[in-house]
Amino acid sequence: MTTLHIDALSKQHLQHIIQQQNGFIFTFTKIDSGRFIHTFCEGQLLKKMNLDPNQIVGYELKDFLPEEKAIEKSMMYERAWAGEAVSYEATVFNISYLASLNPVTVDDQVVQVIGNCIDITDRKEKELLLETSEQHFKSLFLYNPDPVFSLDSNGYFTSVNEAGSEITGHSEEQMKQRTFLPYITPDYQLDTLHKFQQVMRGESLTFPCAIKNERNERKELRVTAVPIVINGQITGVYGVARNITKQLQYKKDLELSEERYRILVENSPIAIAVLVKNKMSYVNSSCLELFNTESDGCLIGRSILEMVHQDIQSDVTTQLRKIANADIPSFTMESKLLRIDGETLEVEMTVLPIDFEHQNAILLMLSDISERKKSEKEVEAINQQNELILNTAGDGILSLSPFGHIIFANDAAIQLLEYAHGELIGKHVSILFPESSVTYSNFLAKLDQSIKEQTIHKEREQLINRKQGESILTDITITPITENDEKKGTVLVIKDITQQKQLDEMIIRSDKLSVLGELAAGIAHEIRNPLTSLRGFIQLIQTVTDHRYGEYCDIMLEELDRVNSIVGEFLMLSRPQLSKMSQQNPVSLIKEVVSFLYSEATMNKVNIHEDYQIENILIQGEGNQLKQVFINLLKNAIESMSSGGNVFISAEKLNDDELRICFQDEGCGIAEERLTTLGQPFYTTKERGTGLGLMICYKIIENHHGKISFKSKVDVGTIAEIILPKWNNQDDESVFND
Ligand code: ADP
Ligand code: MG
Repeated sequence: MTTLHIDALSKQHLQHIIQQQNGFIFTFTKIDSGRFIHTFCEGQLLKKMNLDPNQIVGYELKDFLPEEKAIEKSMMYERAWAGEAVSYEATVFNISYLASLNPVTVDDQVVQVIGNCIDITDRKEKELLLETSEQHFKSLFLYNPDPVFSLDSNGYFTSVNEAGSEITGHSEEQMKQRTFLPYITPDYQLDTLHKFQQVMRGESLTFPCAIKNERNERKELRVTAVPIVINGQITGVYGVARNITKQLQYKKDLELSEERYRILVENSPIAIAVLVKNKMSYVNSSCLELFNTESDGCLIGRSILEMVHQDIQSDVTTQLRKIANADIPSFTMESKLLRIDGETLEVEMTVLPIDFEHQNAILLMLSDISERKKSEKEVEAINQQNELILNTAGDGILSLSPFGHIIFANDAAIQLLEYAHGELIGKHVSILFPESSVTYSNFLAKLDQSIKEQTIHKEREQLINRKQGESILTDITITPITENDEKKGTVLVIKDITQQKQLDEMIIRSDKLSVLGELAAGIAHEIRNPLTSLRGFIQLIQTVTDHRYGEYCDIMLEELDRVNSIVGEFLMLSRPQLSKMSQQNPVSLIKEVVSFLYSEATMNKVNIHEDYQIENILIQGEGNQLKQVFINLLKNAIESMSSGGNVFISAEKLNDDELRICFQDEGCGIAEERLTTLGQPFYTTKERGTGLGLMICYKIIENHHGKISFKSKVDVGTIAEIILPKWNNQDDESVFND
């Protein structure tokens, strides 16, 4: 019986041990009604379950447990009561425990059951944890998209996931028959073996390797391997492989294409340089050649601004800044660079932004244009030379486009047409003609014809307009220009014939004058003869008439004498010139001229003042010619004063050998620039002038070994001065002879 056991220890002591134990102990028995009644219960675990022995002893299961649990337990109780030692796990009030029920029999009859419960909550929690981590592991292992495997210490596969068997093409079972080595490609076998040994020594490694699958396809892998440690012992290797075949292929492709580009750039005939922060970071071989250097040592690291000619430094800086700010996508400019040896290079520079080794950089492409520049300069020089030649040409030259627009005009053309420099360029040739004139349409037709038929045309006496509308008479030659059979337009050579025309007219006029002179001589004779008979008859009448009419006769005779003397002068002037030198009294000659022109002077309200200091000095000369000089000078003096004035005539001794004769007027004067050219034929400012008078004066005075000169001031007056040598042999008795 139970009392028997208890006897050995003090009951008190025993109870204390039971109370302090971690689990709890209980007893129950079956009473007559078939119910199980607890007879004892003690232990620390009860407290954890929030139960008290007082709630249990004397009660059945359903009194302190939820019904469900109570039924469950009572089944166990039945089995124990039947004599079986029962153990079971259960959870009550969140506490898990392991219970064992031991029946106590007396005479094969179960009299009570002793139950013992121990707390298994911790173990249960750990089990749960293990279960979840196992799940995790499973999902990591089985369902990992990368091949995962474990090896034992000899290198045999112990587990392989699906991805692993997929990559080898062998099932897990097949793989488990083998080590990893046969899968590895020969080039990696030794290395991978080393890596395996390292991991077996405790290292964790990541390394590349490659395998061949059953179809003999090579797969590039990156493997991470860690040792499997169990109780401090390395029992194998756990590994994850990643298939990097594609990445490697991409990388290889990329390298290949990069290599291709590198080769292209290296061998490009265009000089290429890369600038990082405006400094040379890369140059190709053409670039070295361009800068005349063997190695890139003296180029790399140099700033581009050091290398461009200072003239364009600021230009380049601004452009580079624009590129950096992405204001412009690129630029191309002609620039001058300095070579290593200081020589200047003419290049065309193209600049683009690029990404160079993950930095913002600038790509420079340089092509040498020195040769091009040189030939451009040569062409320019030739053009300049041609232009110079064209500009020195006296005739106006215009070059026209096929449509008649002016492309070039030489200096003479610009002067002739009185346009400003460059103003003619681009204008249509029609500006030379009065609009819608016959000459214009005629000229255009000629231009067309010249281009079409490739023939040269000469247009004589063509009137064209100056800028201000003044017209000039010209001869125009139209020449077609062709270049490589292409009709490029025409060249017009314009010759100003206005002056030539005027000269022609003057010559005709002077011809007329000399004819008139000859006629006049004849007429003078015809007048003189009747005058003689008129004079005779008047004298006769005078003798017979009375005093009053005699006075009229005197006047008539005086007037007749005057007509006679004028006609005489006329005759003398127009008489054929006999250059017979003789002694002449210049003052007498001047006096005759004054009386000859007296009436003309009074008619023009001109007073003639005479002042002669040398009444009797003689000179060697031709009387008629000298008179002609004096007439011309006096006439010019009178004509210069359109509203009248004074003419002062003087003659004086200049020195022992020379005398001076002056004609001074108060007329319009002569412009300074004209003074030097006086005496040139056909220069006249008068409507009915010939422009021959002064020329004749110069000629005649020259023949007399004298000099003639003019002093003049515009609107003040003019002095004509003649210096003539004296007749030196004053003793020689000579008579006045005309
Ligand atoms: P013409 O008298 O027929 O014009 P000349 O040879 O005598 O030709 O003179 C040439 C020009 O010189 C004149 O037209 C005139 O302009 C200028 N000239 C000559 N003498 C004088 C003068 N005394 N005063 C002003 N102008 C003069
Ligand atoms: Mg004159």
